[in-house]
Amino acid sequence: MKRILVSIIALSMVFSSCTKKEEADLIVKNGIVYTVDEAFSVAESFVVKDGKIVAIGTNKEISKKYKSDKNLDAKGQAIYPGFIDAHAHFYGYGKGLNQVDLRGTKSYDEVIERLIEYTKTNTEGWIYGMGWDQNDWPKQEYPDKQSLDNLFATQPVVLTRIDGHAVLVNTAVLNYSGIKHTTKVNGGQILKSKGLMTGVLIDNAINLIKTPPETDEDIARALLAAQDNCFSVGLTTVSDAGLTKRIIETIDRMQKDNELKIKIYAMVDGSDKKSVEYYLNDGPYESERLTVRAIKIYLDGALGSRGALLHQHYSDAPGKKGNMITSKHDLESMARRAALANFQLNTHCIGDSANSIALNVYGRIGDIENRRWRIEHAQILLEKDLEKFKQSQIIPSVQPTHATSDRTWAKDRLGEIRLKNAYNYKKLLNARGMIALGTDFPIEDINPLYTFYSAVARKDVNMTPAGGFQPEDALTREEALRGMTIWAAYANFEESKKGSIEVGKAADFVILSNDIMQGDINAVLKTKVKNTYINGQKVY
Ligand SMILES: [Zn+2]
Repeated sequence: MKRILVSIIALSMVFSSCTKKEEADLIVKNGIVYTVDEAFSVAESFVVKDGKIVAIGTNKEISKKYKSDKNLDAKGQAIYPGFIDAHAHFYGYGKGLNQVDLRGTKSYDEVIERLIEYTKTNTEGWIYGMGWDQNDWPKQEYPDKQSLDNLFATQPVVLTRIDGHAVLVNTAVLNYSGIKHTTKVNGGQILKSKGLMTGVLIDNAINLIKTPPETDEDIARALLAAQDNCFSVGLTTVSDAGLTKRIIETIDRMQKDNELKIKIYAMVDGSDKKSVEYYLNDGPYESERLTVRAIKIYLDGALGSRGALLHQHYSDAPGKKGNMITSKHDLESMARRAALANFQLNTHCIGDSANSIALNVYGRIGDIENRRWRIEHAQILLEKDLEKFKQSQIIPSVQPTHATSDRTWAKDRLGEIRLKNAYNYKKLLNARGMIALGTDFPIEDINPLYTFYSAVARKDVNMTPAGGFQPEDALTREEALRGMTIWAAYANFEESKKGSIEVGKAADFVILSNDIMQGDINAVLKTKVKNTYINGQKVY
């Protein structure tokens, strides 16, 4: 009897080890799962345990091996790795959500109207606004502070241009900051008319503005507001192109408290000396949701405000070649320090001259492939400089929506011939073998699907121009998707943790209402994010 019992137990153990399914935290099934692995394979189902992907396969394969109390039936919808924005201003965007939104204003009068509306409910304190663009106004000229002074004699007003490279302030701010018409500034301008300040400050002159310090609550509010909107468009990681130590530490603390769930790749703001010193001495920092191992430097300004550094004069401003924000010498010494400290250097270069300088400096430092150094924007390039992206294996980090937003006035600034050498994403991809895609939000909309659409269709959200802008520089859908997932992860040294739906990686993924890899490309504009998951947890 005893023997029989033992053998029954033994038999049942053998039996159960054959059929016993592994317990998982979440099983996703019936999806069109774009894994974005090396082979760009498509699966039906995957399994999540402890925030990571543990298996991928067909519905049948997965259901045979795994069970879970939580099952997600995707009902044939398309699933992608969580989107990564390779270059944005996450914190700045969050701050902007609490400011007067000046985007889309059709005249300076409309700017004033929106300020009046805002001050009906915000009667005290500093007024911040963001997003004006004189290129959208009937008179495409910089505004003057006179109307602001008439309305706000003592209340300080700071209004940032859409590209962040020009700011309009009133006299109250100039006085508070001690900015005078005689103040000197390198790599920037204090605009004047008949010897008097107009209130417009460009590039380095913006750093002269003094504002009251932010409170911890201000910072937390901005970060959380930005996070909510990012989740609603499927972003699971954002690379912030320029943060100070204080903001980075707040992000780290809020992530560890599980208040902030979004993942951040923080580039240290190169213009903030204290932050740079701290991180270069301390070395790279990495937690589960945060990586700090890059320095962001501005070499020049932006094209819209004619701050981009060009080899030849602006087509619409003879005698002007733009602003050099960081000298060649300073860039090179920062590059050497960053290399020693094992930090990535990400240099903002819009103009062809800025790009030439950075490419040469990078070339002199060497071993750029392993350092994964990047050029942010890489917007206007001499043809011969494209080759240097290949030689030195420099990662181009570009924003496809810039091409479709800028194209009309970019032609005024550059003329037809130089425009041909601008926004050359396909050529950059061919040179380097990869390209990281972002938006530079809040300059552009935060939606990564607009990035995808612009990159592939080379059209803006109004589906113009009809044939696409310089369509020879369009990316394929696969290239665009890689650019906003795995290549963006690579550009952040994070490709072993995220960027694709593969075993061992974080379960960051999005479910879309429509498959953007197939069908009419214009349908991408109407596509909605159904759900966003981070580490297997639904966050939207
Ligand atoms: Zn930027």
